[in-house]
Amino acid sequence: MNDLIVVAGAGGFIGGHLVEYFLDKGYTNIRAVDIKPLEEWYQVSEVAENIVADLKDRNNCMMACRGATEVYNLAADMGGMGFIENNKALCMLSVLINTHMLQSCHETGVDRYFYASSACVYNADKQKSEDVIPLREEDAYPAMPEDGYGWEKLFSERMCRHFREDFGLTTRVARFHNVYGPHGTWEGGREKAPAAICRKIVAAKQTGDHEIEVWGDGKQTRSFMYIDDCLLGIDRIMHSDIEEPINLGSDELTTINNLTDLVAEIADIEITRRHDLTAPKGVNGRNSDNTKIQEYLGWAPGITLKEGMAKTFEWIQQEYLARYEQATKTEEVYGSHA
Ligand code: NAD
Repeated sequence: MNDLIVVAGAGGFIGGHLVEYFLDKGYTNIRAVDIKPLEEWYQVSEVAENIVADLKDRNNCMMACRGATEVYNLAADMGGMGFIENNKALCMLSVLINTHMLQSCHETGVDRYFYASSACVYNADKQKSEDVIPLREEDAYPAMPEDGYGWEKLFSERMCRHFREDFGLTTRVARFHNVYGPHGTWEGGREKAPAAICRKIVAAKQTGDHEIEVWGDGKQTRSFMYIDDCLLGIDRIMHSDIEEPINLGSDELTTINNLTDLVAEIADIEITRRHDLTAPKGVNGRNSDNTKIQEYLGWAPGITLKEGMAKTFEWIQQEYLARYEQATKTEEVYGSHA
């Protein structure tokens, strides 16, 4: 329990939860690393060794990995469709993080390396219809992933494979399908659909304007995995003998329209939808085929969307109200131009 575990991207959504997950399990020696200033981390553990460093830099990766037994790489410059469709170069630069982390793990003798890949690696041709056939791991090839972000993920997956084959570094790769939950991005342009919809519905509740903007026609199909399933999956995949990239996602399929209605039901308000057909909306349909993870682990993510979204909505509502209260106080003290 005293072995050093490194979590890269620990100031972010999944990384922040992962640090807490290992501390809860009784691990005592966690090094948390992120490029963001500490005050911007979503969760900061007082017990972990918290380091602010840019992991695109090889020397920083060496420093981060030295002495570690296990390294979890969740650091990436990313966001929802609004971000990745408009920032392809930034997304691709995350290749420096994975490359330098792999090199550093190899050189410092780390036992196991986990890489967070994405369903965005899948061939776009297999995601043209809303009426989806769930994506199996082999559907990533022939390669035609999401431009920018997806190409970086697919390339980095292969780097993990070749470091394993050529250098004997034990690498594990999970393809996350839309992860959501508390302590994630919910405003600012990098948020994903579940958080954005929660924020819009909280705002509707507060302002009384119950018309919600939905990106695309809302008929896009997706599955969403609650953070607790993601954490368990990371742990299980890391400590399994699964060498090839594997899906880690829910297979409960929904449409964006149904997701919006579900959140309105949780919030207990009636809404109308206004569709922005010019907004980024991603592929038409995507779901996770969980045959392989069931086969290997006898388990797959199972927390229902209803249960997970209720918890997520509750948290975003609190955050929104705290922000709103703070803004009102500032306005009272400094006037509306503050
Ligand atoms: P996030 O944006 O909340 O966290 C990523 C963290 O990485 C951020 O805190 C960011 O500051 C940090 N980071 C970025 N560049 C860095 C650098 N150069 N050096 C150090 N830290 C850096 O995102 P997340 O949702 O927690 O995602 C974690 C991982 O999972 C990412 O690799 C992401 O691509 C992958 N993933 C996430 C989802 C999802 O739905 N959240 C889906 C598929 C894949």
